Order: sequence, then C-alpha cells, then structure tokens
Amino acid sequence: MRRKLVVANWKMHGSIAQNQQLFDAFKQKLAPIDNVDFAVCVPYPYLFQAQVVLSGTNIAWGAQNVGKYPVGAYTGEVAASMLKDFDATYVILGHSERSTAYCESGENIAAKFVTAKNAGLTPVLCVGETLQEREAGMEQQVVAEQLDALLLSQGGAVFEHAVVSYEPIWAIGTGLSATPDQAQAMHEFIRARIAGYDADAANSLRILYGGSVNPVNASQLLVMQDIDGGLIGRCSLDANDFEKICLAAAAVR
Ligand code: PEP
Repeated sequence: MRRKLVVANWKMHGSIAQNQQLFDAFKQKLAPIDNVDFAVCVPYPYLFQAQVVLSGTNIAWGAQNVGKYPVGAYTGEVAASMLKDFDATYVILGHSERSTAYCESGENIAAKFVTAKNAGLTPVLCVGETLQEREAGMEQQVVAEQLDALLLSQGGAVFEHAVVSYEPIWAIGTGLSATPDQAQAMHEFIRARIAGYDADAANSLRILYGGSVNPVNASQLLVMQDIDGGLIGRCSLDANDFEKICLAAAAVR
C-alpha cells in the first residue's frame, strides 16, 4: 500500500510570528502519527524558518513554485538548487492559482518539473479541470493533456518519486469538494494514463486530492483506493483542522 502524504499549501499567507505558532502546533499534534508523511509548502521567504523549526521532526517542507532554469539572469525567479539550500523536499507546480493568474503553459510547467527533479526535489504536479470543462464532460481530456505535457516528452519514468495532485479548479477554495467517487474516478484515470507509459511508476505514484478538503469530508475522500493523501489549502492554516485531516489519513487501513 502507498503511504499517505498530506501537504499543506499555505499559499501567500503567513508571517514569521504566525508561522511559528502554526509550526509549533503542527509539530506537537503530528509527532505521534508515524504512518503518514507530512509537508508544509511555504512562501519562499519562510523556507529558512521552516528549515530551522521543522528540522528533525516528521514534517518536511517545500515551496510553491520554482524557476525552470537552473541558474542565470532571470530576475525574480528562484532556482531549484536554492530550494535545496534550505533542505526543501517538495515543490508544488502547476497550481491553477498560478497557471491562471500567470498564464503558465503546460510546457513551462513540464520544464519546471524536470528541473525540480534533476535538483533532487519532489515535484507535486497539480492537474485539474474548470467547472465549465467538467460540465462539458471534458475533464478527462483536460487532465490527460496536462499529463501528456510531461509524458510525451519524458516518458512515464519521470513520475517515479514524484507526486500528482488532482485539483478540480471548481473545488479549490470554494468549499465545494469533489465527491469521493468523482475524485476516485479521476485518480484512477490519472494512474491508468501514466501506467500506459510506465506501470511501475504509476503503481508507486502518490496521487493527492486537493480542493476544499476539510475535517468533515477528509475520511470519505482519503479512504478511496487511488487517493493517496491530500493537498490542503484553507484548512492548513488552522492547526486543529489540519490535525483532524492528518488523523483521517492515519486512520485509513
Ligand atoms: C489548494 O490550494 O491546493 C487547495 C486545495 O485549497 P483549498 O483546500 O483551500 O481548496
């Protein structure tokens, strides 16, 4: 069985003081859970704080974006090697809040994914459809295209030691989660798509669900066969809510 992974996406929230409180609460609440992996993806300026506070705990940390080039004259960008300098493990890529607001193409996201992997980071690739696309019955086609941006150029092995997060755009930050069956169907589809290129990579791949996961719906989502954890936005800013989601992950047998 794949070990569950719960990732907090703090987006553009936090301050040194607020983070300290949340980190302290996470450390205390999650320390007893030994059958789930945890991570907090923070804004870049707080990577050092995450490194100092979370080193030696069972909580990894990471970023929410990375530059697609390894080094150079790219004002405002942050290189994968810089994230490694702060011992980051994960980097979220292709989140719809970025791909929509900053017009990121699939090609660009694929380049970042490869750069991150080459630097020894674990990319968390976000895929998902809009409400309009779902209503038109196009959700699988849309997600297939997002995966194909990597599969066609890199093959299936690129997903070894990586993470995919299915994030229906209509469910992010809206309070309207996908149902467990809707999520499971898409997760199964993602795994099968990757298995078409590399069955081993697909089988070991952790596919997270993200989109309004909360303490009430977490158990029903996380128990589904192909849901290997969650990417948590709003509820990761509340230590009690986040703990409940993590406990729901730990309770799945
Ligand atoms: C996210 O940011 O990836 C996310 C899923 O947010 P929320 O949990 O708030 O919907």
